[in-house]
Amino acid sequence: MGDDTWDGLFPRAFHRAFFFPSFNVKDLHTVDDGILRHLYRTVDGGEWDLLIAHFLGVDHCGHKHGPDHPEMAKKLSQMDEMLRSLVDHLENDTLLLVAGDHGMTGTGDHGGDSEEELDAALFVYSKAPLFQDLPPEEPETVPQVNLVPTLALLLGVPVPYSNIGEVMADLFGSEGDAASSLHAQLAAYNINARQVNRFLHSYAEAAQDLPAEKLQHLQRLFRTIAEEHERLSAQAASPVLPQMEALRNRFQQYLREARAVCAESWARFHPGCMVAGCALLTSSCLLCYVASKVASRMDFSCRHFFLYPLLWGGVGVALLGLAHFCRGARADFIVLSAWGAAASQLGFFWHCWTTRPPTSHAAALCPPFEGLSLKLRLWAGPGAELPLGILLLRCSAMLSDSFVVAEGRVLPFLLVSLVLLEALRLQWKGRLDGSLLCWQLLATVGAVVVCARLSGLFQKCREETPACQSSPILGPLSSVQDPRAKNLYYGLCLVVLASVAWGTRRWLRHYGNLNSPCALVLFVRWGFPLLALGIAGYWAITSGAEEALIKLHAWVQLALEVFPRGIFSLVMAGLLLVFWKPVTVFVEGSQAPPIVSPSSEALIPQLYRRMQESLKSRLEETEDGSRAAVAAYGLGSVYSAALLISLTLLGFLLMTLHAERLSLAFLLLFVEAFALLWMHTCARALSSSAHTDPFVVPWEALVAWALAAGQFFYATGHQPVFPAIHWNAAFVGFQQGHATNLLPALLVGANTFASQILLAG
Ligand SMILES: [Zn+2]
Repeated sequence: MGDDTWDGLFPRAFHRAFFFPSFNVKDLHTVDDGILRHLYRTVDGGEWDLLIAHFLGVDHCGHKHGPDHPEMAKKLSQMDEMLRSLVDHLENDTLLLVAGDHGMTGTGDHGGDSEEELDAALFVYSKAPLFQDLPPEEPETVPQVNLVPTLALLLGVPVPYSNIGEVMADLFGSEGDAASSLHAQLAAYNINARQVNRFLHSYAEAAQDLPAEKLQHLQRLFRTIAEEHERLSAQAASPVLPQMEALRNRFQQYLREARAVCAESWARFHPGCMVAGCALLTSSCLLCYVASKVASRMDFSCRHFFLYPLLWGGVGVALLGLAHFCRGARADFIVLSAWGAAASQLGFFWHCWTTRPPTSHAAALCPPFEGLSLKLRLWAGPGAELPLGILLLRCSAMLSDSFVVAEGRVLPFLLVSLVLLEALRLQWKGRLDGSLLCWQLLATVGAVVVCARLSGLFQKCREETPACQSSPILGPLSSVQDPRAKNLYYGLCLVVLASVAWGTRRWLRHYGNLNSPCALVLFVRWGFPLLALGIAGYWAITSGAEEALIKLHAWVQLALEVFPRGIFSLVMAGLLLVFWKPVTVFVEGSQAPPIVSPSSEALIPQLYRRMQESLKSRLEETEDGSRAAVAAYGLGSVYSAALLISLTLLGFLLMTLHAERLSLAFLLLFVEAFALLWMHTCARALSSSAHTDPFVVPWEALVAWALAAGQFFYATGHQPVFPAIHWNAAFVGFQQGHATNLLPALLVGANTFASQILLAG
């Protein structure tokens, strides 16, 4: 009874079952109260051999409030009370085992391999005396796998085939004198050791990954012990105690060694495969780079660069699939896709080769400074080498354990270095001339540095770094106990919401995007404040104290569903509007609309005007195939207003999926992204020569953007490990759980990759 995961794992395995929905970690009481309604009645009824009651409240309370919260004290007292009354209901021959399946960290999470998470208590009780001697003062520590053979033998069922645990000898043979109890223990060990030996034997034959000499040693050990045991049990007279104790120790030694051999072999890495994988990854990155270079130098044709490679890939997959089919083997999805990808790459390069124009192909292969003397090259200063070097550093950091663990700190460092080096490069070239533009550039550089420093406040610690303390800001607001601190934080969150909504509107108004009477503009005017209000209301409820809301339980449950769903629908409506009519600038009837308001210091609009001119001139140059060209450059000239509106909408959505105080991190993200854009615009304006093509995105902007996306992955409380996934996100707006796995997967995915989603725009 209790956690319905049992039903999922062992459907129809129980004679009688009372299951309750368990997946919502915010729900502390449904499962526990459900068990308590049935527990004592079932125990007294006596129609059972084994009764499992899986309480979940303590675990959920840890996730929601952390271990030191008053709610946890309440939950633990409830469990104490339950145990006390359960003991009164037990028969004399009933064994009660109370076990936690894991512990929890200081923040109430688990799933990692820290001691706090792995250690859990095991309490064994029976009314009949269980132990010969008094239990030791200091509780013993046993591996959790030992529960398997112990429970199996106590219940009188065979030990599961793949068990590698060791019986807990104390629980066997408590009756009679020392010799007969040792006898019973040895019998249990004998069954246990035989099962482990059988498993090792058949496993080693099938998998071939256990070291042969260790296996032989184990087998020799097992044979001698088994013989010794047979000899001892065949003796008519009672054997001497020391002999039996020695045999028990050897059984223990065998079982422990067997477990160690398995553990060692199952946690092994294959350096060869790892190197091959890295090489494959690098080569495909390089190939993509070369492909993008080649494609940018050639006339764009949808057929050549998209359709033909797709066909090639399809043919590759079909051929391989056919070969597999003929041999009667099952096709592996990964192998098939690899073949498809390789064939499409081949197709791409083949078509590039056959359709190459004679001169442009040669130009594509020229490095940027070809033809310049060394002195001139040095004078020109580093170009794309600088951001590419930083990109290379970031990639090579992946090869080091310590850098992988510290990636959350490496990324902001690299970003700040890149930005500062960019500024230095401009200074080196003598472009920083003290103009207004130059001061703007320096201010944005400063803003990026400050944002990068502040984003460190929102990082979660990995369990590999025990000295690290996760920031308390990452927890939900409901875990804050001091009401003044809670109000202060809530106020800050409201400021974030207001500033995001206000900032976007202000930006749009400044560039004349809020003048047209179209639906999207109306949405920005009224929908944004409504969204901010909805999120504020939702946070007010989620951050409320449990007892304060208990009287209004039904209303709170309703509001917890209605608010987020309202937010989701508003965001969806807004996004649909953006897709339907993205342009907020063009007023109906105007043939040649001004793309921006006439503001002299506005850099981004100037850039857009130049992009427009460049687009026009290109279209005139390439008369044929102009349809394809429009489609491609249309993508390049996505109007920033529409982009900003959709990003703000997504930002609101993703903030709702995160803990309340992480909205501060989202504000930082928006500020940093804006500062980066502004900085690159300034840098481009300062360094531009007449021939700079505004359509080509410079490497430094691209690399900075990618680094920022990685940085905010960490700065929104994520880590690339399973225990750090924010599962709570699946229940925002769906308190009762889901019927399918698709929607929760989408919600958790959106939560996890929030920064990448926002910065991908
Ligand atoms: Zn849990």
